[in-house]
Amino acid sequence: MLTHNLGYPRIGIQRDLKKLVESYWKDEIDKSELVASSEALRVMHWTKQKEAGINLVPSNDFSLYDQVLDTAMLVGAIPDRYQELFQEENDGTHSYPIDTYFAMARGVQDDEHDIPAMEMTKWFNTNYHYIVPEFSAGQTFECLSSKVFDEYEEAKSVGVITKPTLIGPVSFLLLGKEKDESEEFHRLDLLDELLSVYQEILSELEQMGVEWVQIEEPFLCLDLDEKAQVAYQRAYEKLAEDREGLELLLTTYFEGLDKNTGLACDLSVEGLHIDLVEAPGQLDKVLEHLDEETKLSLGLIDGRNIWKADLEQAVEVVKQAAEAIGEEQVLIAPSSSLLHCPVDLEQETDETALPTDIKRWMAFANQKLEELSLLKKLAKDDLTAKERQQVEEHQADISDKGESTLVHHPEVQQRMDNLDEDILHRDNPYLERKKIQQEHIDLPELFPTTTIGSFPQTKKVRQWRADYRKGELSKEEYEQKLKEATADLIEKQEEIGLDLLVHGEFERNDMVEYFGEQLAGFAFTRNGWVQSYGTRGVKPPIIYGDVHRPDPMTVKWSSYAQSQTEKPVKGMLTGPVTILQWSFPRDDQSRSETAKQIALAIRDEVADLEAAGIQAIQIDEPAFREGLPLRRNDWTHYLDWAVDAFRIASTVVDDQTQIHTHMCYSEFNDVIEHIARLDADVISMETSRSQMELLDAFVEFDYPNEIGPGVYDIHSPRVPSTEEMVNLLEKAVDVLPPEQLWVNPDCGLKTRGWEETLPSLENMVKAARQMRERV
Ligand code: GLN
Ligand code: ZN
Repeated sequence: MLTHNLGYPRIGIQRDLKKLVESYWKDEIDKSELVASSEALRVMHWTKQKEAGINLVPSNDFSLYDQVLDTAMLVGAIPDRYQELFQEENDGTHSYPIDTYFAMARGVQDDEHDIPAMEMTKWFNTNYHYIVPEFSAGQTFECLSSKVFDEYEEAKSVGVITKPTLIGPVSFLLLGKEKDESEEFHRLDLLDELLSVYQEILSELEQMGVEWVQIEEPFLCLDLDEKAQVAYQRAYEKLAEDREGLELLLTTYFEGLDKNTGLACDLSVEGLHIDLVEAPGQLDKVLEHLDEETKLSLGLIDGRNIWKADLEQAVEVVKQAAEAIGEEQVLIAPSSSLLHCPVDLEQETDETALPTDIKRWMAFANQKLEELSLLKKLAKDDLTAKERQQVEEHQADISDKGESTLVHHPEVQQRMDNLDEDILHRDNPYLERKKIQQEHIDLPELFPTTTIGSFPQTKKVRQWRADYRKGELSKEEYEQKLKEATADLIEKQEEIGLDLLVHGEFERNDMVEYFGEQLAGFAFTRNGWVQSYGTRGVKPPIIYGDVHRPDPMTVKWSSYAQSQTEKPVKGMLTGPVTILQWSFPRDDQSRSETAKQIALAIRDEVADLEAAGIQAIQIDEPAFREGLPLRRNDWTHYLDWAVDAFRIASTVVDDQTQIHTHMCYSEFNDVIEHIARLDADVISMETSRSQMELLDAFVEFDYPNEIGPGVYDIHSPRVPSTEEMVNLLEKAVDVLPPEQLWVNPDCGLKTRGWEETLPSLENMVKAARQMRERV
């Protein structure tokens, strides 16, 4: 029985990789230093894993930016627009064209070049983002980068024999996007061409003496059409040809194989990895289908969450599998790559963020590796006295969590038990509310203007927060500065002529953390970074217990802003689904339960805002869509509880109070019915880049409530002209009645500078005024 790891976090314990890569970008270090220092980091990671007792340590899981981009480099899938750059760089001395690689990830803009970056999108249902490969008809591939070979040799030279990891050919194609206009072309048409490169790579690895290759095919956990199924059969048939010494570990994660169980088990590979954390129920079926020769890797330690694994429960699964197929056929592993969890819990020493009583329930990547080793010994009944005690303590921590009063809060439980239908509805339907709101809230009847909430978080504002945290500013001083910033913003908005004002969110570091810090049931880390994309990381809060709101969270700021103006000020909250989605959730109750608890806490805040005289309240749900399960069959269940959670949060108000929501993306076609069920009075979203195309979904559905299609792209410092925005609004008026439309930017302005924000908003207000005259 071997233990193996699917992938280790590459960012380094002190976010070393971020610092390294960013210094390279800033020209503070040169290529050779980048190469040498990243090698040192890898060596550290390999050694760590080996010391933890992992039998098969992965290589090629490291990346300077993204593993999908690495794969594109590996097989030479460099889009044409970077070819010139690549030729310039490829003078024969570099085995890895690093500048071309970074250009693909981030674009380049200098005296000689102006090339946009490749697209980026979410890695399945995680918060990791990968670079989307581009494919076109007739594209050819060649093995271009030696990274996978080099890393194997590197590890070997320090005494670690690794299992190189590759993204499988079918998943690689499916992860990409057709760049071809022609309708007939499908990226899977490139499979044969791609397979010849994979064959080449595998045979080279085989010659180097590699025993196992982890070939990742996470798409086997998604719904597959006929074409994709055929592609899988063809691909693994091809890759089995001429392969002798080298064994393939077909790796799946994030869901169960479900309908693809037969397909996956019949592929010509030597091992199969399945995720038994996300889909424990799949084991029986897999055991049934798997032939005698194929090894089975059990993903038993959660690769994506931060809770200790229940080793006693896990060992039962190991025993079941061992009994069915023989102990030597079983491997044990984390469920997925550990890329998705922070590196080392030992770094968390600040008890005000993470109390010891909660920390003892948790495990980060390093701790998970230890769990894995213990699990193996437990399964083989091979524990020393000390290890036995370790397991006992470990299990005691877990049962303690099950009973802890830190986790369980009777009042929350009671409130949850008493939830009924009534809580899900406003008093009257939207059309009636609209009339009441028109009388109650002082807004222009047509094209009211507003913003999404945040305004530039300048260095100055962030410095105040840092000084306050360090104790260099007192609470009073800090809040006084924030008040001044807020009052100043109110004045600016009045000068610009905006209609529904905001307070600016200067007091918030982050739209989830800010609420998490004030809600009971949340803990934080100081160093629990997880890679989000490239050199960017997030530090998700940890939801460990029943959530409730001890005190009002935003009322003070909203009331203060409202006291500075006669115009209405919009209250600003983050919605329950987004708070859940961007945190590490509990593993002892369903996500829907947790979402509803958060929703109740937000509901209390909404009620208090209304009582304080706030006439419009926005509940942001930018993560609403990303919560969608990987499989279509599971969508309805998710959408039902997600919609309920939003409604629990929002329906407490009287008809006269206007509920807004905001979502920063532009794909609504497949969920529009559920967006409508949110029954927000106003929804704002991104549209400017898609030229209002997303409105089609709303038009087709006959969406009745008000809509604020973003009229300018806040992701760029460019100042849009009034005329441009008028043009966009005219497109909107072509398809929707003007009474339904608001005028606002795409998203919050916190990453922008004042220089571009003020003129942009002035132009936007002018555009709204012109529209009012026109219709
Ligand atoms: N109200 C938030 C802001 O303006 C919304 C952010 C978001 O949509 N991601 O910053
Ligand atoms: Zn947004």
